Amino acid sequence: MKLSVVVPCYDEEEVIGRFDEEIRGVLGRLAVEYELCYVDDGSTDGTLHRIRTLAQQHRPTTRYVSFSRNFGKEAAMLAGLKEAGGDAVILMDADLQHPPQLIEKMLDLYQLGHDQVIARRSREGDKPLRSMVSKLYYRAVNKWVDVELTDGVGDFRLLSRTAVDALVSLPEYNRFSKGLFSWIGFDTVTFDYRNAQREGGRTKWRFGALVNYGIDGMISFNSRPLRVAIYTGLSLAGLAAAYALWIIGAAVAGGITAPGYVTLVAIIVGLGGLQMVMLGLIGEYIGRIYYETKRRPHFLVKETNGTAPTHTPTARVAGRTRR
Ligand code: UDP
Ligand code: MG
Repeated sequence: MKLSVVVPCYDEEEVIGRFDEEIRGVLGRLAVEYELCYVDDGSTDGTLHRIRTLAQQHRPTTRYVSFSRNFGKEAAMLAGLKEAGGDAVILMDADLQHPPQLIEKMLDLYQLGHDQVIARRSREGDKPLRSMVSKLYYRAVNKWVDVELTDGVGDFRLLSRTAVDALVSLPEYNRFSKGLFSWIGFDTVTFDYRNAQREGGRTKWRFGALVNYGIDGMISFNSRPLRVAIYTGLSLAGLAAAYALWIIGAAVAGGITAPGYVTLVAIIVGLGGLQMVMLGLIGEYIGRIYYETKRRPHFLVKETNGTAPTHTPTARVAGRTRR
């Protein structure tokens, strides 16, 4: 069998050399036929240069695709999956947070017939607040979404050819991989490993990006939040009707006493806020429809030594693509 390892890289010049060395060490010992697929996600440092050099040094076993700009990790993983030709594909980060030593175990489990072999990390070394928020988030979100999202499970996994073909065949523009992996199903097995710290460089996750990712997770996979909006509206309307009846009753019984402007302001502001939230929610879905209807490609390739079509103007192709 042949194994492909797909590695999305964005500004990883500091660690990519070390990563390449380690992974080749491990794969060499395993005595499987392998290829490495690096995807340079529009890095602004010397990452592409390093990858080119690696591809030249290890000619037949290294492929790379380089994007015209930063398209995000989801796009980079998709490009890698499209480029990979192996019977099984492993997705890995370039920062050595995904220990290459685990590949052997993944292969063993793959050989037992599993289509997805997932490595789940512990939360060791994470800030306590961050792991608590994550835990609560996953508990809440799993009540909502139709696919199972698991805490600690990321993109580090082995996929069989069947699973890869299934993933690549999903055409949507908004790709939320955690959900897609779970949506395709197939025979899945999970094992745990100890979390490792980044070997160099910096994480690309800011707090805001995490919050946005969380919202994506909630609305990427169903329209249930819209249903909640309907129920909230109905309950509020019911409450308002009851309140109005009560006020009218009180007025009839004892005459009008208090002006009640505090109640009025609170209700107006509260309802205004709620309406904004609901509008935003609807807007999110419409925004997604908008992006899907454009049918833009997930990424543009600037340079590759593989099979991906490049978008360099034809006149310059000879000089710039390296095949
Ligand atoms: N990455 C990418 N494109 C991006 C951001 C990240 O290809 O826009 C890659 C990055 O180079 C790394 C992996 O995705 O190989 C995980 O990124 P990072 O380590 O920043 O995320 P974390 O491990 O902190 O979740
Ligand atoms: Mg990382």
